Amino acid sequence: MRYLPELFANNRAWATKRVSQNPQYFTRLCAIQTPRYLWIGCADSRVPANEIVGLEPGELFVHRNVANIVRADDLNCIAVLQYAIEFLGTTDVIVCGHYGCGGVQAALGAPVPKPLERWIAPIREIRRSQAADIDGRTDADARWRRLCELNVISQVRELSRLPILTSAWAKGRPLTVHGWIYDLHDGLLRDLDVSATQNTSEAA
Ligand SMILES: [Zn+2]
Repeated sequence: MRYLPELFANNRAWATKRVSQNPQYFTRLCAIQTPRYLWIGCADSRVPANEIVGLEPGELFVHRNVANIVRADDLNCIAVLQYAIEFLGTTDVIVCGHYGCGGVQAALGAPVPKPLERWIAPIREIRRSQAADIDGRTDADARWRRLCELNVISQVRELSRLPILTSAWAKGRPLTVHGWIYDLHDGLLRDLDVSATQNTSEAA
């Protein structure tokens, strides 16, 4: 093994452990993929999606990018959504941000080199449009935390307006979009109470 042999060693140990616990583990996993949940989270290495919600391979469809941003013109994100909702039968889409997010922090400071600056432009816009909410906070850390929350809330709204979501709701598909935030300090998730369903989208 020329490169990164420690990762291959880890992988062999992991696969061996799985099979020792359940000889049919990989056979069963190959046969089905019907994850109920789609996770849209930050690429941050400290927020491992499956682990923090205690789900096994096969149970969580995952899309991650810098600062968990959902954009209608992001082909990658939209394709993941379409595949999850139309082909896998996913019923719950979770946008999960986290406190201490570097992408969100960048949007509070001076411009960063492209293409990152282009990527975080939507967060700068949230920061601008909700300046009163953010600037009213006591210190820089509180403003950062609040922008992390507002970013998640904004992405849930963005998601709820996408044709993939609205057409699924129009067909009566049970589908809910959730906005959560994860705290690196204690490992706990918090529901931001902005879940969107067919009914809330009709009321909006
Ligand atoms: Zn992040």
